[in-house]
Amino acid sequence: MTRAADSPLTAYGWDTDWAAAFAPYAPTGLVPGRVVRVDRGRCDVVVAADDDPPGSAPGARAPLRTLRAESDPASGLCTGDWVAVDTAPPAGPVVRAPLPRRTRFTRSTSSARSEGQTLAANIDLAVIGVSLAVDLDLGRLERFLSLAWSSGAQPVVALTKTDLVPDITHLVADVEQAGPGAGVFPVSSVSGAGLDALAAELSGRTSALLGQSGVGKSTLVNALLGTEEQESGPVRGSDGKGRHTTTARELLLLPRGGVLIDTPGLRGVGLWEANDGLAQVFSEIEELAVHCRFHDCEHHAEPDCAVLAAVETGTLSHRRFESYRKLLRESAWIASRTDARLRAELSREWRRREAAGREMYERKRGGKHRKAF
Ligand code: GDP
Ligand code: ZN
Repeated sequence: MTRAADSPLTAYGWDTDWAAAFAPYAPTGLVPGRVVRVDRGRCDVVVAADDDPPGSAPGARAPLRTLRAESDPASGLCTGDWVAVDTAPPAGPVVRAPLPRRTRFTRSTSSARSEGQTLAANIDLAVIGVSLAVDLDLGRLERFLSLAWSSGAQPVVALTKTDLVPDITHLVADVEQAGPGAGVFPVSSVSGAGLDALAAELSGRTSALLGQSGVGKSTLVNALLGTEEQESGPVRGSDGKGRHTTTARELLLLPRGGVLIDTPGLRGVGLWEANDGLAQVFSEIEELAVHCRFHDCEHHAEPDCAVLAAVETGTLSHRRFESYRKLLRESAWIASRTDARLRAELSREWRRREAAGREMYERKRGGKHRKAF
């Protein structure tokens, strides 16, 4: 069995839980790998190379290589997935099975009849970029936060462009209040301030950078990667037939450790299946709601509504209460327009596999992020 500590895939987030999830496939000769890019029926998968390269020191870590593998389009693989790969078939490598996902970002599509599209999987940290150079839009931040929580990822907020703001103290406080449980990292890609702390937070985990256009995501990615890193790494793998793959990957190794997933669709994820995440973003409202007279109180005009009472006394800000109601309405609308039958068909298998994976992950994390449901 592949021991996590020995695998060069550790740099890509491989750990003992992934090793356990992969274990059933090991006897069949498949190898584990992580998907770094997907396009229509094919994907690029990073796997451990089987042989030491000529001239490498004895005992040197086995290097990695990138395979271009066939995958069943119906499996809905996405960047970040861990998979079991058959490297040997004559026609070229084939992905045989995805490992159960720990987390996933899904965009519900505009079609009434289609399953939400999974944009990226197994992201531990969702880094939400918020620019300090413009007025804070806490409502938008709350959307991103609920999306992050509902994906299963831990959100952190990167407050960008601190070099443009003389005093960030009250801005940090506002953001901390809007996102209970989310770490806040003020950074400047221009001065370099705060980058070390953020890089340390990302180390050893898989992250993705979300946020509105213009907040400084590309600049921050470049600052985190450093220039030399973009040239190195096993980017130019071969497809098993001697050809080199040169396409841009969407999963990048950070120089201080950790993995960054940067897929085009994910950055500004527009639509939301954020129901589950609302409870965490608005945890203080959920706590108030426990004291409403009716357990299914919608906090409109019900008698003895603890939430409305808190708005009245000013304990709960009106802005935050409106933001909460707006997001609730939107997520109910998205849920209602999605075709239930089709969804069930397509996602049953994934959900079954996911449940097993998530359970294992939660146990590892000690369930500390689950209490607010
Ligand atoms: P994205 O759309 O989120 O990827 O944002 P970009 O990375 O393209 O940045 C948008 C603009 O903000 C560009 O003009 C950047 O030069 C600028 N910018 C990004 N980060 C910083 C920063 O830390 N400080 C300052 N002053 N400008 C920044
Ligand atoms: Zn109520």
